[in-house]
Amino acid sequence: MEENMIHSGFVSLIGRPNVGKSTLLNKMAGIRLAITSPKAQTTRQIVRAVLDEKDSQIIFLDSPGLHKPRTKLGEFMMAQATLALSDADVILLLVDAEASIRHHAMRQVPVIEANILEKCEKMDKPVILVINKVDQVVKQNVLPMIEAYSQRFKFEAIVPVSALSGDGVDRLSALIRSLLPEGPRYYPADSLTDQTERSITAELIREQILMLTHEEIPHGTAVEIESFEETLKGEPLDEEHGHDRDFVSISALVYCDRDTHKGILIGKQGSMLKRIGSRARQEIETLLGCKVYLEIHVKVREDWRNRRGILKNLGYNLKD
Ligand code: GDP
Ligand code: MG
Repeated sequence: MEENMIHSGFVSLIGRPNVGKSTLLNKMAGIRLAITSPKAQTTRQIVRAVLDEKDSQIIFLDSPGLHKPRTKLGEFMMAQATLALSDADVILLLVDAEASIRHHAMRQVPVIEANILEKCEKMDKPVILVINKVDQVVKQNVLPMIEAYSQRFKFEAIVPVSALSGDGVDRLSALIRSLLPEGPRYYPADSLTDQTERSITAELIREQILMLTHEEIPHGTAVEIESFEETLKGEPLDEEHGHDRDFVSISALVYCDRDTHKGILIGKQGSMLKRIGSRARQEIETLLGCKVYLEIHVKVREDWRNRRGILKNLGYNLKD
C-alpha cells in the first residue's frame, strides 16, 4: 500500500424502519464514534458515523431526507437503495429475523427486499445481508431465511447478528473492512467540525417533526440550533484524540408558519413536542456518541421564508 493509504470507504445501510439500523451503528462505532462533515458534493446522503481505526476508516451513510411520513414503505426503501447504490462501496441490507419469521415464516423474500435486490443485481457492488435480532429467534428458524435469500441474490456474505447484544457485530465490521478499497483517511480523526454537527442535529430534529406530524406542518418548518455546548470529560481519551465529550446541551428553535401549526407541534400539554424531543435526542446521541440534553422551542414566523437573515442563519444558500 502507498503511504497514507488505508482501507477506507462508504457503507450504506438499507432496511425497513425498526430493523435495528441505529442500534447496529451504535454498536459498531463503539468508542471511536465521531461525526464529521458530509462527503463533499459527491453524495446526497449524510455521514451518520465514522468508524476510525489505525488501518481503516468505515464511513456510514444515511439518507435523512427520505423519512417523510407520507412516503410509502416500498418507495422509501427504493429511494434508500438508489442512494445507497450510487454512493456506497459496500451495501448492508438489514432484515429483522424476528419479524420476518413471525410474519412470513420466512420461506420467501418479501417483495420490498426482492425489488431492492433486483436493483442491486445491476450494480457491481458487494452486498452483505445482515440478519438482525437473532437473539429473539431459535437458530434453526433462521436457516430457511438464509436459504431463501441466498437463492435470490449472490450476497458477498450473510451475517446473523444481534445489534443489541453485539453478537456477530465484530465479525461484520471485520468483513466490511476487508471489502473496502484502498483509499485515503477521508476524515482526519481530529476533523470534527462543530458546524456540521449542528446542521445534522437540526436535520435530525426536522426528521422527527416530519415523521410525527402531518399535513402542511413539514413544509412550513425550519430548525435553527441556537446553542450547542459541549462539556468535556476530565481526562483526555488519549493524546491523539484529546478530550472526550461527557455530554452536549443543545437548544433548538423550530420556526413554523402559523399559530395553528405551533399548536400542533406543541400538542396537548406539550405531548407532541416531548415526543419529537425525545426521539430526536436519541438520534442525536447516536450521532454524537455521548449524552445529550435537548431543549426545543417553537416560534411562529409568518413570513420566515422571505427573511434573508433568518434563512442565512438556517444555513440556506442564498443566491443574489
Ligand atoms: P432503525 O429504525 O432501523 O434505526 O431501528 P432501531 O435501531 O431504532 O431499533 C428498533 C428497535 O429494535 C429498538 O427497540 C431496538 O432496541 C430493537 N433492536 C435493535 N436491534 C436489536 C437486536 O439485535 N435484538 C433485539 N432483541 N432488539 C433489537
Ligand atoms: Mg434509526
